[in-house]
Amino acid sequence: MGKLFSIFGDPVSHSRSPLMHNCVFKHLSYDACYTRTHLVDGDKLRDTFLSLKLSGANITVPHKEAAYKACDEVRGFANKVGVVNTIVLEDNKLIGYNTDADGFMYAISEFKDIKTILVLGAGGTAKALVSRFLEDKLKVSVINRSEARLAYFKELKCDTYTWDKFEVKKYDLIVNTTSAGLKDDNLPAPKDIIDKLLKNTNFIADVIYGTLTPFLKLAKEQGITYKDGADMLLGQGVLANELFVDFKLNKNDIKKAMEKSFLL
Ligand code: NDP
Repeated sequence: MGKLFSIFGDPVSHSRSPLMHNCVFKHLSYDACYTRTHLVDGDKLRDTFLSLKLSGANITVPHKEAAYKACDEVRGFANKVGVVNTIVLEDNKLIGYNTDADGFMYAISEFKDIKTILVLGAGGTAKALVSRFLEDKLKVSVINRSEARLAYFKELKCDTYTWDKFEVKKYDLIVNTTSAGLKDDNLPAPKDIIDKLLKNTNFIADVIYGTLTPFLKLAKEQGITYKDGADMLLGQGVLANELFVDFKLNKNDIKKAMEKSFLL
């Protein structure tokens, strides 16, 4: 019998994951299907997963921390950040992973000589990315609109700033992890700070995909090499799919098949 996978989220209707994974299963003749499940209460994740007889799942906003708690075992990087975006059923146990951060590393692999990074925002995505950057011994600074969420990054010994206390330095890469620009015309920091930052960086990345954010628009206008969140989405999807098929498909074939979904 074929395997069934799903994405859990609230909302979930916008998710590209079903398309991405079904493209892989179809093009590589893997007997499986991927659906979506609108889950409002994160505490019901485990029971819903089991009652749907899933072989695996992805988890999106706002249930990634609930997914961490729902697992019998959590492996690798997900343990460090307490955030799970991929679950695989193994011997009737829910095993949790996090593929978001490595997905981002894949996305920026074409940016060379990155040693210093400024992260805009201090939410869940920032936590995962910053922890991953520190594993690679990169020098990381974090700037956020408000003070409260910066405490986590202070503990990690990052330089941290709120907007009013920021002094511009040079960075190899600046990453926007805020949701500014996702559904509005906001910049991730006041325009005068953004203008100075754009004069002091080699590369820009945004985790938002599907729209050119005002931040990326400015980077584009100034001729800075930039990328949106689509490659991060692809990267996390490829790594999750490898886990779903228990590494029985070739990674490059998965990537090529998944890329086709971005044209649909
Ligand atoms: P969180 O809610 O955990 O954090 C949001 C952060 O953005 C906070 O630091 C918040 O600041 C800041 N923020 C929100 N609005 C503004 C604004 N108008 N101006 C400046 N700062 C703002 O969100 P997540 O980390 O879960 O998600 C962030 C983004 O990442 C989302 O857009 C999501 O879609 C995207 N994402 C993309 C992925 C991909 O594969 N490409 C994967 C995962 C996430 P404050 O603390 O002051 O409130």
